[in-house]
Amino acid sequence: MYSIRLWAVRHASFFESLYRIFEPVIVKMQPLWKSIGYQRAEMPVSVLEKISKGLLFDCKMCGQCILSSTGMSCPMNCPKSLRNGPCGGGTRQRPL
Ligand code: SF4
Repeated sequence: MYSIRLWAVRHASFFESLYRIFEPVIVKMQPLWKSIGYQRAEMPVSVLEKISKGLLFDCKMCGQCILSSTGMSCPMNCPKSLRNGPCGGGTRQRPL
């Protein structure tokens, strides 16, 4: 599983391009989602999302995905689970 995650990190630009292509398509399908019913459509979509994003990005299903803004890196993988960093831990400087 971890090797798949590493592969996804190495190919993040590919996944970002894929997102840029499919996002407008999903938005244009709005009438279809509306006719099916959002709650009815949500169940199979969230199952697919959980499997695929869990495998590729170690997704925690936070409900506010910002993968497209973070270079396909999930901020919820931080041990502190901070979505809006920086937490300061990585930029801390040693005292002189
Ligand atoms: S930000 Fe991370 S945990 Fe939240 S939905 Fe996106 S991939 Fe999942």
